[in-house]
Amino acid sequence: MGRAVVLVGVPWDDQSSFMRGAAGGPDAIRRALASPSANQSTERGFDLAFGATLIDAGDVSLPDAGPGEVADAITARVSALVDDERPIVALGGDHAVTFPLVRAHASRFPRLHVLHLDAHPDLYDDFEGKPYSHASPFARIMESGLAARLVQVGIRTLNEAQRGQVRRFGVEQVPMRDWTGRERLTFDGPVYLSVDLDVLDPAFAPGVSHHEPGGLSVRDVLRLIEGFEGPLVGADVVELNPVRDRDGVTAMVAAKLVREIAARMLATR
Ligand code: MN
Ligand code: MN
Repeated sequence: MGRAVVLVGVPWDDQSSFMRGAAGGPDAIRRALASPSANQSTERGFDLAFGATLIDAGDVSLPDAGPGEVADAITARVSALVDDERPIVALGGDHAVTFPLVRAHASRFPRLHVLHLDAHPDLYDDFEGKPYSHASPFARIMESGLAARLVQVGIRTLNEAQRGQVRRFGVEQVPMRDWTGRERLTFDGPVYLSVDLDVLDPAFAPGVSHHEPGGLSVRDVLRLIEGFEGPLVGADVVELNPVRDRDGVTAMVAAKLVREIAARMLATR
């Protein structure tokens, strides 16, 4: 088996707080990746090839059960896929998928460093009584000791409840207000990258459940993916909501990010 990036869909959105729809994300991203309007070239000059360097493992099948059991099923399936030579890019789903995904990676890569791009810190101890809420995955990750570091970029919705969680867990943040584009992010351990598409300004990515103006450009996010120092061992792209998308433009953004993440994984391994 040669080196490849493995895509796995996680069509789970029942932990969304505002509106459903992100369960349609994996298929919308697959359609955008396969769209004849683009090819599989990447900005590094490397052409991805379906079935060779980009392999689709299909969707995690989700049990008809409570969120704890669904999360366990995601971790079990993805743990079986985690492989040094075949890093995973998971397609959400809402951000609730990231706790079980990071849990699957942390058993193979202890002391994981998590780079999280989002308008929201997603650190609520629980949200409206839901500990598995898409507003809570990074609280579950940190209290479970799955991450040696959590670095959040693009945050522009920090409230008092979550400020307390930032202090409690020692979370590092580059708030959107302070963003210059010249940040140098350095990690001295394996990096898991989690991209919530609402880190982008809604002008670039309207197809998300939570429109939060004042965000990053697509180019900013590409520079982040390309620019940080450290080995990228796993990633997810979450919160695409096709119900909110316009002409599939956000799905194309997600597909571009998936390609560039995959290209970086293949180039640095
Ligand atoms: Mn999020
Ligand atoms: Mn968000």
